[in-house]
Amino acid sequence: MLFGSIEAGGTKFIAAVGDEQMKIIDSITVPTTKPEETLEPIFSFFDQYSIDAIGVGSFGPIDVNEDSKTFGYITSTPKTSWKNFNFFGSLSKHYDMPIAWTTDVNAAGYAESVMGNAKGTQSCLYLTVGTGIGGGFINQGHILNAYSHPEMGHLLIKRHPSDTFVGNCPFHTDCLEGMASGPAVEKRWGKKGIELADQPNVWELEAYYLAQALVSYTLILRPERIILGGGIMKQKQIFQLIREQFEQMLKGYVAVPDLDTYIQPVGLNDQAGIIGGLLLAEKSIGKIKAL
Ligand code: ZN
Repeated sequence: MLFGSIEAGGTKFIAAVGDEQMKIIDSITVPTTKPEETLEPIFSFFDQYSIDAIGVGSFGPIDVNEDSKTFGYITSTPKTSWKNFNFFGSLSKHYDMPIAWTTDVNAAGYAESVMGNAKGTQSCLYLTVGTGIGGGFINQGHILNAYSHPEMGHLLIKRHPSDTFVGNCPFHTDCLEGMASGPAVEKRWGKKGIELADQPNVWELEAYYLAQALVSYTLILRPERIILGGGIMKQKQIFQLIREQFEQMLKGYVAVPDLDTYIQPVGLNDQAGIIGGLLLAEKSIGKIKAL
């Protein structure tokens, strides 16, 4: 059996075909332009293989509510040609097979929970910190979606008393994403995160914001493990800072696993999203609509 996976990002789409061992057999990368233009080469790519199901992890926000009239749409993205685009519909018109549809973050989190650094746990909170911040929660093999998918990046947080950066979320100004995403770091310090690697104050402040978010996720969801991915988390020195601040902020209020185990980087590196799509495609076999 072969599976198709699409990791749909704001700048590029990656499509891959994988086998039942989740081994990637072939893949292509297509720049994100207009929907038809981007999907056409992906259809041609998949058509070379006899695939049985497709899993999609898409940038969003997207509609994941199967009872909604706009299920499968990308909704309020600032990318105008993708706004209100029926992504799931375009795929299901082309492919008469199960198609799993979720966010890019949920797909990556799912892969981490099955094959990555949360393997063997019952529940995993996955957070990506990069161009944006997004999170997903996987509990006993199920991705948490309710009225819609969570938007964990836009949590309201306490500003550090010495931080004068206004924040850059177009909706909330100084929410978590507005204060701690890659673009927020760059705007605050005038350099990209990667160029600030040797400046401890940058990462202390970053850890202060991320630790607050992890405390909130811990209190609400009580996950067994937290996995942190995305470009900013490639600064490995930040993990210990986050663990220290997390401990200070939580103040022992609830029991959590040993922090080196509890808060970990991704295990599948940049492949979490695409492997997540393959895993979700496999999971969707036997269902009309996955998730
Ligand atoms: Zn926001």
